[in-house]
Parts: sequence; C-alpha cells; structure tokens
Amino acid sequence: MIVMKFGGTSVQDEEAIGRVISIVGSRLVEKPLVVVSALARVTKVLCAIAQEAEAQHEDAVRTNLNLLRERHFNLAKALLNERPDLLENCLKDIEARISHLERFVTGVCQIGELSLRSEARIISTGELLSSTIIAYAFNARGISCNWIDARRMITTNDNYMSARPDLEITEANVKRIIGMESKGVDLVLTQGFIASTSEGSTSVLGFEGSDYSAAIFGMALGASRVEIWTDVDGIRSADPRVVSNTRRIESLSYEEAAEMASMGARVLHPLTIEPARKKNIPIVVLNSKNPECKGSTVLRADEAPDGPKSVASRSGILYVKVTSKKMDGVTAMLGRVFAPLYANRVPVTLAKATESEVYLVLPEEVAGLAPSLKAIEAWADVTVYRDKALISVIGRNIVGLEGLGDKVIETAGKVYVANVSANMLSENFVIDTERLEDTLTGIHDYIFAN
Ligand code: ASP
Ligand code: MG
Repeated sequence: MIVMKFGGTSVQDEEAIGRVISIVGSRLVEKPLVVVSALARVTKVLCAIAQEAEAQHEDAVRTNLNLLRERHFNLAKALLNERPDLLENCLKDIEARISHLERFVTGVCQIGELSLRSEARIISTGELLSSTIIAYAFNARGISCNWIDARRMITTNDNYMSARPDLEITEANVKRIIGMESKGVDLVLTQGFIASTSEGSTSVLGFEGSDYSAAIFGMALGASRVEIWTDVDGIRSADPRVVSNTRRIESLSYEEAAEMASMGARVLHPLTIEPARKKNIPIVVLNSKNPECKGSTVLRADEAPDGPKSVASRSGILYVKVTSKKMDGVTAMLGRVFAPLYANRVPVTLAKATESEVYLVLPEEVAGLAPSLKAIEAWADVTVYRDKALISVIGRNIVGLEGLGDKVIETAGKVYVANVSANMLSENFVIDTERLEDTLTGIHDYIFAN
C-alpha cells in the first residue's frame, strides 16, 4: 500500500481535482490510501466563522456559511455534471454537513462562547466536505472509491485543536478499518487533519496537520511510501518566495527534514517525520501541477547524501543578553536564567553561556517572557535586541563549511550569535531582520550556485 496526501491547493478546484484523479489513477496497482485536506482557504474561513460566532456577529457568520455552501455546491456541479444521479446524492451530503454546521454555529452564536472542543468540531467540516466531493468525483470517473471518516481511525488526547494521537490504538483502528473497507474497491479515501478523542469528540491535529495524518496512516499500514502532493517541485533549497534560484533537494534524511521544519522552512508539518522514521517509510514530496517531477525523498540518514541541503530562516526573533554583576559560573548562570523561563514555559530557540553572561535567542511574541525577564532583572542586567532574524544552513556534515561565517558577516553586516546546533545538523546565525533577504540570497548563492 501507499499513502497519497493532497493538500489544499492540490484540491482547490475542478481542474486541480481532475489532476488528482489522474495522478491517483496511475497508481492504483499500489493500493493507495488517499488523504485529502480541505479545499484551499476553507479552514481559514471556518476559523473566521468560529470567531464571528463567538463574537455573536450573526450576519458575518451567515455570509461566510453561504459562501462555503456555494463554493462546495459549484465544485460538485462542475465535477459531476455528467452524472446527475451522483450529483444529487453529493449535494444532499454537502447540504447535510453544512446545515449541521449551521445549527452548531448558531448555538455558539447564541451563547457567545467558543470552547476549543467546539472550534475543532467547526473547522473539521472543511475536510469532511472536500473528501465527500472528491470521493464522488472518483466514482464518477469509474474509479471505485470508499469514503472513510478519519475520526473513526485516529484517536487522540483531548487537546482538541492540537491533539496528539495514541499511536497504538490508532494503528489497530487503521489496520482493522482499512483492511475491511479496501476490499473490492480501487481505493479508500479519507481526511487529513481531523481525528477524535477516545470519548468520540472531534479533534484536529493542529494547522497544516494533514501531512502528519498521512504519516500516521503510513506508519499504521506499513506503507511502502507516503506521498505528500503539494504545488511546488519538491522540497527547495530555500524559500522560493525570497530566493529566486532555489534548487530541488533530491533526497534528504528524516533528521535533516525535521531540522528544516524546526528552523522555519515550510516543508512538512514538523511532527510528520516521526511516524515515518519509526518504520523507515520514505516520504516523497511531489508537485500535483507537475507530476513528472521526481520531487524530494525523505529517508534514512545512511540513504541520503551528506552536505548542505537548504537555507532557512525565521524572523520575529529576539536576542537577549543577560549579564550578571558577579562571575557566577556557567551552571549557576544557566540555572538562574532558565528557572523562570522554564516555569513560564518560554520556548527558547538557542542559548549560550559564559561565566557571567547568557545569550538567548527566542521568538518575539511569547506569553510568559515578560514576567521571566522581570525575575531575571532582579539580579542581572538584561538587554533585549528586537527585529532580529535567525538564518540557518541545514545539512549533515556541514560544520566547518568553508567561509560560511565570513560570508554571513559580509552580507548581514553584523552577526549577533553564531552557533552550531547540538545535533550538528545546522549552523545558525542571528542577524538584523532588515538584512535577512539579502543574506538569504547571498548565502544560498554561496553554497549552491556552483
Ligand atoms: N486544512 C488544514 C489546514 O489548513 C490542514 C491541512 O491542510 O494540512 O490547516
Ligand atoms: Mg500543507
């Protein structure tokens, strides 16, 4: 079996879904489990509906619900125009989902209160709607397809909006249900992103979580690979919106992909790697607009080449310098700085310490940072530098890549911190945000242009 996941832009309209059907159609011998996201932008609209309902803005809620209904109706009509019998049933299914959502949201509107549980239930509608239409579309094209509710399979904790699966229970569910439902059909189709708690309430795996769903299904089925279909030619050596001459990464290790995700490259949902690595299942990132392209394969470290893979960045970074009046020593310095940070659950990206100083690199907007810094100020001088960015060069065996540091200084003007990550998979530099674009381009050219 293989798992094929199609993201929002790969299923955004009639044309895109047509491409999905032909791509999947070319792989039927491999027994695909197809996982789909909501149509592009629908999850955002659903989030807006939830917020508007909480704020009791009835008109805005109604307008958005009608837009949603119209978009899905029109799509179904376009895809099923030659099969009026299927179209009729499909429209009924869509209407049932949307009126269910309408009733639920009206309730939220009346009480003006939105729990995380209600929010998850509202935004799960996007995937339920898209998958319903796509399943009909497969059947209309003569590819027999069984629609399955992913909430029957992925069982999570009750952290509704960013739920974590119980992999053992989930694996057993997936094996049992897919085993049964795949009999006698060309393929089984389900949703990414959505799941349910053991009590049966709807939960979601966090935004962009469909990749993670696909990896969980792949792991549970022992799939021979997990394909993630997007709208770019695989994983790029930098963000193509910033750097013009990016390259496709042919193959990279699970660890490098995880490092890229944590350093801000928008490749795969960061949790996607773990289930795949567990069973050594390759993840292939492909382009539904250019299916001939081989994309990028994420696999075991000993199967991927060494060397730099990509340049990533994160902006909205703070650089904080803590200076003690005494020479406290590294242990005491780190202990005293991290006690309040830990108590306030502040996610620190990087830290460095000397006998009397600690340097911290962290995201700008974190709750809990202000009280932590206040506690530290009781015994040390704290200087906060704003408008910084973190630029990372990622790859195995890049440490000591010749001239890299000089090149960063040359383009960025000033480097506040230079650091090799503890896992040795990245070299990171804190620079001024206003120099970010030029530095990214400069470093990318330096590493990859020849
Ligand atoms: N539809 C969800 C989102 O937009 C999940 C996904 O597409 O991965 O976040
Ligand atoms: Mg995505």
